[in-house]
Amino acid sequence: MKAMSCKLLVIGAGPGGYVCATRAGQRGIDTVIVEAERPGGTCLNVGCIPSKALIHAADEYDKVVRFAAGDSALGISAADPRIDLAKTMRWKDEIVGRLNGGVAGLLKNAAVKVVQGWAQFRDGKTVEVETETGLQVIHAEQVVIATGARPVELSALPFGGRVISSTEALALRQVPDRLVVVGGGYIGLELGTAFAKMGSQVTIVEALPRIMPQYDAARSDTAGRDAPAAARRRRADERESDRAYALGRWSDGRNLRRTTQGSGRRQDSCRGRTRSTDRGLGS
Ligand SMILES: Cc1cc2nc3c(=O)[nH]c(=O)nc-3n(C[C@H](O)[C@H](O)[C@H](O)COP(=O)(O)OP(=O)(O)OC[C@H]3O[C@@H](n4cnc5c(N)ncnc54)[C@H](O)[C@@H]3O)c2cc1C
Repeated sequence: MKAMSCKLLVIGAGPGGYVCATRAGQRGIDTVIVEAERPGGTCLNVGCIPSKALIHAADEYDKVVRFAAGDSALGISAADPRIDLAKTMRWKDEIVGRLNGGVAGLLKNAAVKVVQGWAQFRDGKTVEVETETGLQVIHAEQVVIATGARPVELSALPFGGRVISSTEALALRQVPDRLVVVGGGYIGLELGTAFAKMGSQVTIVEALPRIMPQYDAARSDTAGRDAPAAARRRRADERESDRAYALGRWSDGRNLRRTTQGSGRRQDSCRGRTRSTDRGLGS
């Protein structure tokens, strides 16, 4: 067992934690940050950055598909466009990897010590971390909990097999023929629209009467108009194109299964996120 003391301990190296730790370090505060996974947190590793990279790739592909369909006022034409999603994901992973290095560099330059592993409180000022090299005990004068959030698992649709969260959706190696996105918030819409542009037949299921229910109605109406257009354009010639977008009512697992049965090769659950502290931070 190893032990260390510091003035400030930050748990979680997402945008909340690493910015806090970096600023503290730059101000000469003796700071330690603990991260269970990779620096940058959800945003950099499985959130904002990879989703925007995927959206960008999907937009580019969609543009070429429209050119191939003769849909270019500029007179640009293309033939038989294809997308190699495994290669797209490698490109996305390289971007994430570079930015991971950037965050690690920021912490290092600010003289913040980084401990890799899952932090658990022993008491209010002491944390234990199971690291690769054994148990690390950290005693701090002040502790910042910046542990963020993780995807919500639905009891009727536990993760596994065909049921994946946004994290796995951002690492798919093949474009699914059919994708059901459970949850019409911004994460579900972003991912659903990107996969629709890459060729999936996408169904978005939302329990509330309108998509993006946490935004004002005018915004959600615009998204509702845009989403089907984006989702349908790719498969306009197919019989089931009207199912590319569905504003479904959803009340329990049984109902949801019936809604998605036979139409979803993959079910991506973007039902929201819950605080990571649910997994336990010890005493
Ligand atoms: C698909 C997707 C797209 C998104 N797009 C956007 C966007 O475009 N714009 C935007 O503003 N936001 C976006 N978000 C939301 C954004 O990612 C979060 O708001 C942001 O990451 C929250 O930062 P945070 O530091 O609070 O937590 P997080 O980024 O979740 O970081 C918390 C960190 O704490 C670590 N941790 C948790 N518990 C422990 C523990 N006990 N010990 C050690 N480490 C621990 C976790 O591993 C994690 O790295 C998106 C999210 C997703 C999922």
